[in-house]
Amino acid sequence: MKLAMIGFGQAGGKIVDKFLEYDQRTNSGIVRSAVAVNTAKADLLGLEQIPEEHRVLIGQARVKGHGVGADNELGAEIAEEDIDEIQGAIDNIPVHEIDAFLVVSGLGGGTGSGGSPVISKHLKRIYTEPVYGLGVLPGGDEGGIYTLNAARSFQTFVREVDNLLVFDNDSWRKTGESVQGGYDHINEEIVRRFGVLFGAGEVGAGDNVAESVVDSSEIINTLAGGGVSTVGYASEDVELSGSSGGLLSRFKGDEGGSDMDTANTTNRITSLVRKAALGRLTLPCEIEGAERALLVMAGPSQHLNRKGIERGRKWLEEQTGSMEVRGGDYPTNEPRVAAAVLLSGIHNVPRIKELQQIAIEAQDNIDDIRQQSEDNLEQLVEDDEDELDPLF
Ligand code: GDP
Repeated sequence: MKLAMIGFGQAGGKIVDKFLEYDQRTNSGIVRSAVAVNTAKADLLGLEQIPEEHRVLIGQARVKGHGVGADNELGAEIAEEDIDEIQGAIDNIPVHEIDAFLVVSGLGGGTGSGGSPVISKHLKRIYTEPVYGLGVLPGGDEGGIYTLNAARSFQTFVREVDNLLVFDNDSWRKTGESVQGGYDHINEEIVRRFGVLFGAGEVGAGDNVAESVVDSSEIINTLAGGGVSTVGYASEDVELSGSSGGLLSRFKGDEGGSDMDTANTTNRITSLVRKAALGRLTLPCEIEGAERALLVMAGPSQHLNRKGIERGRKWLEEQTGSMEVRGGDYPTNEPRVAAAVLLSGIHNVPRIKELQQIAIEAQDNIDDIRQQSEDNLEQLVEDDEDELDPLF
């Protein structure tokens, strides 16, 4: 499907930048337009793919291009005040050519955390296209204020979008990596997962159309109904047949596929579906109780078959307890078969409860310190016997 992506804040801009790179590399055609919005000038300058005229610096009068310093209330205020400037960039998007908006941000900071719910609300009021959010939760080691920001932004963002797709940095951290290197790797993972998912609805007329291609309306219907979503992914390398006597072509019979091949293809698909759904999700959760699901099987069409997808889909029905499980294929020319599983309307998410608990503790702690601050300062500044007088 074709998306207009709006990256809000540093993480949002960098992830949208990566989506553009992915789009160029794979020809997936999912990013119809990309806009970056920030209160920090340096972050906008650091982007590589988003065209300069699509980068919007807001809040100059308030923060002079230096960012909001993880103050998400200020981030939200500035987004509201400068909504016309953001709209100016959105006016360049050919909205009749897109299927949906995707607003991307890290929820732990200030600009994206505060601004992305504001822009989503605005877009929903003006356009009829669905507005989806892609919200990134902070790592557990980032500290209380980031957790508090994320918990508050999460509540607001879910309310303002048609569906909030969540990625949890905490479950994707690798130890021993620099923060920057870590984010590069994490951003690749984000883009691969959501790229396969959204790319599925974008199979062109000239492409190798398979038996049951996923249409963008199936992605939209899976996300319809709102709430929170997570994505699972698993892949296995395969050889492209026809590539001068690869292993597969040697095994293949004259008709281009033996029973053995068919069985292998089916088994590979069903095991990838299980790995995707039971492995590391973008937001870890209990998959039982998910309201809707979509299975996308991507890969060379000779490695995809209806039977495998049907079995995978049935298995997802059993695991989620939902009757609304869609599935189909997404033919690509990559030497890899991949399963992407979108679980929408998830409810049993211990990570969110944990985040909220830590956020409440952080909030209480901040309130206590603020209340004591005046007394503490007075104790420090005033001399014990009150013998000194200030100058004026
Ligand atoms: P903002 O510019 O004020 O919106 O804040 P940032 O985007 O810099 O940071 C917000 C949160 O996003 C941080 O607390 C991190 O958890 C996360 N974050 C920052 N940069 C990246 C990134 O490149 N990738 C990912 N996945 N997360 C990031």
